Amino acid sequence: MSATSVPNGTAIIGGGITGLAAAWELAKAGQPAVLIEKDSALGGVIRTDHVHGCVIEAGPDSFLAAKPAALELIHEMGLSDQVIGSNDHLRVTYILKGGRLIPMPDGLMMMIPTKLLPVAMSPLLGWGTKLKMGLEYFSKSNPDAPERSVAQLVREHYGQEAVDYLAEPLLSGVYGGDPESLSANAVLGQFIELEKNYGSLTKGTLALRAQRKGPAGSLFKTLKGGLGQLIDALSQRLEDKVERRTATVQSIAKIPTGWRIGLADNQTLDVAKVLLAAPAGPTSQILSGLDPELSALLASIPYNSSMTIALGYDRKTLGHPLNGFGFLVPKVERRKLVACTWVGTKFNYRVPADKAILRCFLGGAHLDEADDRLVAAVKGELADLMGVTAEPAFVSIQRWRNAMAQYTLGHQQRVKTIRQLAARHPGLALAGNAYEGIGIPDCIRGAREAVKQLR
Ligand SMILES: Cc1cc2nc3c(=O)[nH]c(=O)nc-3n(C[C@H](O)[C@H](O)[C@H](O)COP(=O)(O)OP(=O)(O)OC[C@H]3O[C@@H](n4cnc5c(N)ncnc54)[C@H](O)[C@@H]3O)c2cc1C
Repeated sequence: MSATSVPNGTAIIGGGITGLAAAWELAKAGQPAVLIEKDSALGGVIRTDHVHGCVIEAGPDSFLAAKPAALELIHEMGLSDQVIGSNDHLRVTYILKGGRLIPMPDGLMMMIPTKLLPVAMSPLLGWGTKLKMGLEYFSKSNPDAPERSVAQLVREHYGQEAVDYLAEPLLSGVYGGDPESLSANAVLGQFIELEKNYGSLTKGTLALRAQRKGPAGSLFKTLKGGLGQLIDALSQRLEDKVERRTATVQSIAKIPTGWRIGLADNQTLDVAKVLLAAPAGPTSQILSGLDPELSALLASIPYNSSMTIALGYDRKTLGHPLNGFGFLVPKVERRKLVACTWVGTKFNYRVPADKAILRCFLGGAHLDEADDRLVAAVKGELADLMGVTAEPAFVSIQRWRNAMAQYTLGHQQRVKTIRQLAARHPGLALAGNAYEGIGIPDCIRGAREAVKQLR
């Protein structure tokens, strides 16, 4: 047994963006901290690879610009001049229907139609759905509506086809989940508010847009050299301020001076406070001895797995104009691909002019298939859907096991109870993508709140 201690210090468990943002908050306040990450690399699911002059994101590629926390952290890291927006003037997203890639009609905000003519002209939806979309404008508000799944909410407003060909593919890019089990209240909270205030989601979205001042700006932001730039900057700035340990945390226990952290290989670390920034599964295991009730509730938050497979081509061999951001594949179309991003169109600085990157997403069901089988299947579908038969010059595969928290029905109540149970342990805080938002800005905001709570 080897024991060490950081008296008055805070242990941050997990070195993804949540743990790093928390470490930065503590460093700014001059408080002693130790960051414990099981992997040799920091950043968690944020990882940028540089291959043949291309910037390839193995995990997230951007963040929602409307949520300020990520941009604030980027500014604090001195990276403001590296921020770029998505090329929204080129934004066309195709949806696969009946084997054909059909552009999403103009004026759709997620699955909410705000312009009738483009929807009416689009072959993506049948006439029954178009009629329902038009009549939705006259929906009455029901402030007492119970919690509903994403599928229930969208079906009520726009019908099943809007679930299958809009809600499911659009949300599977974010959660990889099933709209029948995802909670609309947890993942589409703004729609629930619109419904309460206006009845019609279309009417509410139009009203919000009318209130918005100034030009819209890019929907997504990122960094020229990839989101790994943020991780590198955080790692550098934290180097002489926060102690770093590469170790797997197994348990935590209360001691008179604070907390004893049990690490692999019989090591322990004593600290004053603990901030758990690992996903809910490992957090549940770490807490199992301390608080079985809290641990069980954390274990009940499901996580999805996914995969990114980036294929790099010589541009001149591709034989496709890449005239859009890429395409989404509804589950009902029964393909292996879930989505494909045409990286060089979506963002500048990512792909040299003589190259092309098709960044494909697959669901967790294929995680254990061999690389060569996966690549052959993806190439087959790209040939079928985009007519791309060229051989890729390189391929980069990343498997993300249990990385994406699923906010299923009851999530908000579950998190409320988790927060109440965690409050029984002063000096312990929880943050990460399991709770109040899975996007990068939400994780950073959650990290800041957890640090505040520990003060
Ligand atoms: C493929 C993919 C694409 C995404 N795309 C986007 C996007 O475009 N935009 C966006 O905003 N969000 C996106 N997300 C979501 C977002 O990236 C994540 O929710 C966020 O980065 C999670 O950060 P985190 O630090 O909470 O968790 P993680 O990144 O999972 O980090 C947790 C860390 O804890 C460590 N850990 C676990 N157990 C232990 C232990 N016992 N001891 C020590 N360390 C431990 C892990 O090794 C890991 O490094 C995407 C996610 C994925 C998987």
